[in-house]
Amino acid sequence: MAEAYCKSYYAASANGTGQFSRLEGEVDCDVAIVAGGFTGIATAVELAERGVRVVVLEANRIGWGASGRNGGQVTGSLSGDKAMERQFRRKLGDEAADFVWRLRWRGHDIIKNRVAKYGISCDLKHGHMQAAYQPSHIGELEEMYRLACAHGMGDEVEMVYGADLHQYVGTDIYHAGIVNRRNMHLHSLNLCLGEAEAARSLGAQIFTDTPVTKIVHGDRPEVVTEKGRVRADKVLIAGNGYHHLAPGKLAGMLFPATLGIVATEQLPEDLARRVLPQDFAVYDTRFVLDYYRLTADRRLLFGSGTNYKGTQSRDIGAPMRPAIVKTFPQLSDVKIEFAWEGQDGITINRIPQLGNVTANVFYAQGYSGHGIATSHIIGEIMAAAITGDSRDFDVFASAWHWRLPVGRYLGNRALALGMWYFQKTEALR
Ligand SMILES: Cc1cc2nc3c(=O)[nH]c(=O)nc-3n(C[C@H](O)[C@H](O)[C@H](O)COP(=O)(O)OP(=O)(O)OC[C@H]3O[C@@H](n4cnc5c(N)ncnc54)[C@H](O)[C@@H]3O)c2cc1C
Repeated sequence: MAEAYCKSYYAASANGTGQFSRLEGEVDCDVAIVAGGFTGIATAVELAERGVRVVVLEANRIGWGASGRNGGQVTGSLSGDKAMERQFRRKLGDEAADFVWRLRWRGHDIIKNRVAKYGISCDLKHGHMQAAYQPSHIGELEEMYRLACAHGMGDEVEMVYGADLHQYVGTDIYHAGIVNRRNMHLHSLNLCLGEAEAARSLGAQIFTDTPVTKIVHGDRPEVVTEKGRVRADKVLIAGNGYHHLAPGKLAGMLFPATLGIVATEQLPEDLARRVLPQDFAVYDTRFVLDYYRLTADRRLLFGSGTNYKGTQSRDIGAPMRPAIVKTFPQLSDVKIEFAWEGQDGITINRIPQLGNVTANVFYAQGYSGHGIATSHIIGEIMAAAITGDSRDFDVFASAWHWRLPVGRYLGNRALALGMWYFQKTEALR
């Protein structure tokens, strides 16, 4: 039985879409995609646009996982961009840095174009500020600013210091900030639902309430569900932090971390304007950071912290309230109306994992908290690889990944220990 959406702001304000049914019986197609989050749905749109017969099989509902629960911040960072540059050098030589730079912004174009092309209503807005939490973090932002200018983004970025920060965020806790007008924020569940409708309009068949129980490998693999099966030429596993398929091949590579997030009651217009005067999204420079933005109906959507053990919290809002009030003392009485959490797949080197289980069964996962733009980039790369152009896929597939020779439980604890160490050393940054 499918799980309902968690009680989030997103689920409460989701656009109604046509219903999807569960799979009962047998279906034949070119490509079967396991999971209906951004990775699965973005790949389905790309494939359907190329005329490929696609079937998507989602265990719960479209956007039920991280894709429908996140902070909605479309950042130009790929989480592991430095590690990617180092590793991709083996395949791309000196072009690796340019390859990663272009990739950083590719997801923005895909999302913007798709929203316009299919008329998806998802509150898309431009503008972010990354804020220096410590004076010692300012240099990193200035380096980022120089890099963006060197790549021709001078009219989209700006360094802001001192009292000028108040033009963007109503707090005194930051020391500087880099404004980025190319970055975006949006209602992520509505984006995912809109893309699913786009895929369906192009002929993709989408089934929900349909967990995949196993994949039978062969010349034409079979994807088996509780009440049906799909025969396909190729299969993509896109269940990220929520799936347990292909345990042999994928064991010890991906660790689901739990991220909590809250949405306040609606703020009066003048208060909302004092908190975020330009309606930009903000995140800080810490390794485990605070990130927030206003929703279309003027709630503060605030995320903070990551539980690398992957366990659920007893009281999601408890650590958020002090973080909100520290940032915005003017919100000390604000009510938290929604609190929820979700799981995202973390990779130890922070590079997304793309590869093959067998020649015709692919996987794509692991965006380490930066998955909105990245999942769309990966969707394009996977669709290209599945239809015969594997240049970018091969670059990712050549990356070396840590594989911990322990189960998920112990792996998550090892990850939590490593991250605890990072956070401690961060005080020295
Ligand atoms: C609280 C939170 C805040 C975040 N904030 C941001 C942010 O602001 N910006 C950003 O860029 N990223 C953010 N992220 C990360 C981003 O949301 C994810 O990286 C991205 O959505 C992953 O998409 P996905 O499709 O790969 O996985 P998911 O969206 O998690 O989808 C996986 C799907 O697989 C399905 N599934 C699992 N097993 C099976 C099976 N056997 N059969 C069929 N289906 C199956 C699940 O039901 C689920 O729907 C955040 C994540 C969380 C949790």
